[in-house]
Amino acid sequence: MPVVAVVGRPNVGKSTLVNRIIGRRQAVVEDTPGVTRDRIPYDAQWSGRQFTVVDTGGWEPDAKDRAGAIAAQAEIAVATADVVLFVVDAVVGATDVDEAAVRMLRRSAKPVLLVANKADNAATEVEATSLWSLGLGEPRPVSALHGRGSGDLLDAILEALPDAPPISEFGPRGPRRVALVGRPNVGKSSLLNRLAKEERSVVDAVAGTTVDPVDSLVEIGGETWQLVDTAGLRKRVGKASGTEYYASLRTAAAIEAAEVAVVLLDASEPISEQDQRILTTVTETGRALVIAFNKWDLVDEDRRYYLDKEIERELRRIPWAIRVNVSAKTGRAVDKLAPALRTALASWETRVPTGQLNQWLTALVQATPHPVRGGRAPRILFATQAGISPPRFVLFTTAPLDAGYQRFIERKLREEFGFVGSPVEVSVKPRK
Ligand code: GDP
Repeated sequence: MPVVAVVGRPNVGKSTLVNRIIGRRQAVVEDTPGVTRDRIPYDAQWSGRQFTVVDTGGWEPDAKDRAGAIAAQAEIAVATADVVLFVVDAVVGATDVDEAAVRMLRRSAKPVLLVANKADNAATEVEATSLWSLGLGEPRPVSALHGRGSGDLLDAILEALPDAPPISEFGPRGPRRVALVGRPNVGKSSLLNRLAKEERSVVDAVAGTTVDPVDSLVEIGGETWQLVDTAGLRKRVGKASGTEYYASLRTAAAIEAAEVAVVLLDASEPISEQDQRILTTVTETGRALVIAFNKWDLVDEDRRYYLDKEIERELRRIPWAIRVNVSAKTGRAVDKLAPALRTALASWETRVPTGQLNQWLTALVQATPHPVRGGRAPRILFATQAGISPPRFVLFTTAPLDAGYQRFIERKLREEFGFVGSPVEVSVKPRK
């Protein structure tokens, strides 16, 4: 684990900075002069990377030999660290003691980031530029207390730590979770078997993270995905297991546990009511959606003609779903699932900035106002995105909107911002 050492005079805010970096309060005792602390390592992570932060503030120098003692402290830190954070009080500026420590730091080959702490406001931030004179490069203004600038500092730390290992090879949240669902005999097991050719051992691939043993890790398009609850698909060979009721519960649970669902349909047969129910479960659960038409090897020109008509009729309510035509049997286009899944997940996690959203909405409402009802039309006062996964929008209005007008806004929202492969929720909050 790479080590970041925090070095500096007493009371420049080292402990507060360490707390800020490790994202906890009161993990480190207050920097009270005279209180001796050990050099305690703390685990920290940022942007999916891990490192160790060592607070060297436990060391209180002798008043009569402050400079020398600070230098000694710096020496130990430098010897053991991969990156040194040298903390200076931006309000006080550089002192003689600081300069003594800098001479030591500059002789070392370790990368040093100059942290100008207590830059709580823009004015101090400007003053901090005078710290260039220390010769340690760019001063990084931070308010450890309030958090100002701490994200930028953490980014800089990661840049200086090229070898910081990712938490897992998948990043902090692990592989994306996919539900592979569909009515019996659409080819779920066959597709799983096809994908499982590249299957990896659950234990090997994600040591230290939790992958349920009923899940499978498969590689699609060069990326590892976690197919949730595939135990049932695996054991069963051709035969349906359990009642239909049990199967639908299991399908719902898999969708719930996933971020994105691949709903498998049998392209050689009409879209059935059961297919529709599964699609509805996905949209109502608010998961991203990819529709895979399986058995594409059986689709001839005739069938294609009818299928297109069926899609138009039966999938009218979800025109935004991504469709791929695959064959579990031949392997056709199975890799296309990866870009489809990535697109759907990106939409699912899209965040529209509030300013952009309201600018767009104002123009839309101006061009097409709400129809007048009883002499007046409800007005939309403000819109905001309340959340992602899936994107959820709230419209604050003077009165409830007509259902037709609300659908119009939803449709236009998609036209403007996309959301291909993801449901989008729009709710209206009329002013009381
Ligand atoms: P599940 O119930 O959804 O798991 O479906 P299975 O994987 O058991 O497949 C049901 C039947 O469809 C089996 O006879 C498979 O061989 C067949 N099948 C699955 N995928 C394809 C495909 O892409 N093309 C063709 N022609 N048959 C397939």
